[in-house]
Amino acid sequence: MTPIKPPRLNDAIGDLPGIGPRTTEAYSALGLETLSDLLWHLPMRYEHERAEMTIEQAETLVPDLEGAQENVAIRGEIAAIRSVGGRRGGRVEATLEDDTGSIQLVFFNAGWLRSKLNPGIRLVAEGKARRWRGYLQLANPTWRIEDDEAEDPNPGREERHRPVYPGSERLPSRRIEATLEPLLEPLLEQVDDPLPEDLRRGRELPRLADALHAVHRPSQPADAVDGRRRLAYDELLLLQLGVMMKRRHLRETLKAPALERTEDIDQRIRARLPFALTSDQDKVCGEISGDVSRSVPMNRLLQGDVGSGKTAVALYAMLLAAAHDHQAVLLAPTELLAEQHHASITRMLEGSDVQVDLFTGTLGTAERRSLRDRLASGASHLVIGTHALLSDDVVFNRLGLVVIDEQHRFGVEQRARLRRPDAHGVIPHVLVMTATPIPRTLALTVFGDLDVSSIRHRPPGRQPIVSRIVEPTNAPKVYGYLAERVAAGEQGYVVVPAIDEGDLGLKSVGSHRAMLASGPLSDARLDVVHGRLSQPERESIMERFRAGEIDVLVATVVIEVGVDVPNATMMVIEHAERFGLAQLHQLRGRVGRGTARSVCAFIGDPTTDDGRKRLEAIGGTDDGFKIAELDLEIRGPGEFFGARQSGLPPFRVANLLEDLDLLRLAQRDAEDWISRDPRLQAAEATEIRAQLMSRYGQALGLGDVG
Ligand code: ADP
Ligand code: MG
Repeated sequence: MTPIKPPRLNDAIGDLPGIGPRTTEAYSALGLETLSDLLWHLPMRYEHERAEMTIEQAETLVPDLEGAQENVAIRGEIAAIRSVGGRRGGRVEATLEDDTGSIQLVFFNAGWLRSKLNPGIRLVAEGKARRWRGYLQLANPTWRIEDDEAEDPNPGREERHRPVYPGSERLPSRRIEATLEPLLEPLLEQVDDPLPEDLRRGRELPRLADALHAVHRPSQPADAVDGRRRLAYDELLLLQLGVMMKRRHLRETLKAPALERTEDIDQRIRARLPFALTSDQDKVCGEISGDVSRSVPMNRLLQGDVGSGKTAVALYAMLLAAAHDHQAVLLAPTELLAEQHHASITRMLEGSDVQVDLFTGTLGTAERRSLRDRLASGASHLVIGTHALLSDDVVFNRLGLVVIDEQHRFGVEQRARLRRPDAHGVIPHVLVMTATPIPRTLALTVFGDLDVSSIRHRPPGRQPIVSRIVEPTNAPKVYGYLAERVAAGEQGYVVVPAIDEGDLGLKSVGSHRAMLASGPLSDARLDVVHGRLSQPERESIMERFRAGEIDVLVATVVIEVGVDVPNATMMVIEHAERFGLAQLHQLRGRVGRGTARSVCAFIGDPTTDDGRKRLEAIGGTDDGFKIAELDLEIRGPGEFFGARQSGLPPFRVANLLEDLDLLRLAQRDAEDWISRDPRLQAAEATEIRAQLMSRYGQALGLGDVG
């Protein structure tokens, strides 16, 4: 099947001889349209295939000695077959013949095989051959029926590591392998190597074409590893180049207002806070002040565990903007959190001239209009709000700072929305905050254009939270304990996964509350909170809980972020196995906010391996930075690279857990490269620049980079 014309990378797979519409469609379904796609469709693993030999060769290879055995692969035809023993557990014996002799195949506990193998079938059997009473025998060999010999690209094959491609039912790996086989060499000849020769040599990497060859057709496993390394390096380098190019571009072309911190301003802000800043908070406020005092836009990530006191830092930065007559926005992922930030900030700023407003999706039309006017005229100084603030008709007068709380809850585009330059090319400074720290590994990559600040120590006087994993049968003990705590004047949360009854037999807010009220918590004042209540309802419930008029809140995960009631010392999470690790950690962070010892009980009955791992992890540590690393291990980096988190296309080859050293290397090389040639305009960069634009141009918004 040699194509008439030499195949070109841009040719459509469907135009290949012998590929009909159905197969073309099957390729399409895998995202493969062109020969280039096919070339970049990489094996996910390899199967070791032994060289085939004749039965005669096997005879001479295996001596008639007890214990002697040799690896063999034999192609032949089944001459006879019989079952011995019961249908299920029985043994199946088959005689395999070729032109040179015969060999006995024995399958133990494989009665089912009897219906699959019949005399006349041709197959390749592989395994360890040995002598049994003088006869050559293969016990429990692996085997493959050879009914479709035309499609075996390696008939009468040699030993090799056969690539296994991601395929589908209609398009098994073998078909893909066979399609690529005659194309591989001619296509590889057309592959341009994007790496300058000295960089490639300096890093001891193979040429791109050689790397691709090694990955598709390794002669030994080490070849594939080397080839893969080169491809992974390219991917990482490409992303780093993109991120750094973008960062440089932003810094060079965009301006933000310079908001200088003076002694006086600093004193005035501190006087507003009800506590002295911890040394971590102090340090971070210093880093932020340093950034915003320049007209280069700040783009800083503040990571600090739940309860570490990020809000005070945000407020500090916002007041710094206000002191310079600029507006500041605090964007929260939920209404509940926005409401709470609004309440606590308003409280702290009581009696000052600073105008604080709350902007959420539940505003009435008239209210919304008047608030929009306040934002546009500058009458409003600090605005706390939700996604509603990202609407196109919301404009600011002089926006100096945007703080995004729980940044992972927002998509890249949403984050970018408030950063759009105004008519003068001026953009606000941006501070994003997260309680789920980005594992360092990833922070280096996706957030390569962010500076990172961390709060590692919580405010003084906190006690660690005691975590317990509890089996459902022991739930009554947990509630008994909660009742004792309530009797002692403390408060608690009970989190359930569902609002309504019905879904998969999960506990729901209403029924669980009823159960608790009629049983273990009959003496406690209970109420519920969930996402379907109206804002005023929710606000009033939270207010009553804060005021101590409610003892126990039965809630959904709406209370996951931000809720801050120091007297709440106990949290019970039902169906804990159903929640993500980061989410469990966030929920637990609702307690341990006062000086009393807090407890979090995770009631769960994990049915999956991941579920079990998550519970073990959450029970094992309450260090958010560790949790983030564990989460990465359990979920894999793919999740972190979901569109919401990064907006970037996933890696094809690179794996951030395994390729950390490669990532560091790529980072250094990208940095060097960009500092030599900030826009990648030199001739040696032509190819890599083209790749960069096609792969990340859109996601990173590189269109305007030049
Ligand atoms: P985060 O948003 O980081 O989870 P918060 O900003 O909600 O944490 O702060 C958690 C709690 O710690 C709040 O009750 C807050 O008032 C309190 N807090 C913050 N900073 C300090 C400090 N320096 N001293 C004492 N309490 C503090
Ligand atoms: Mg917070």
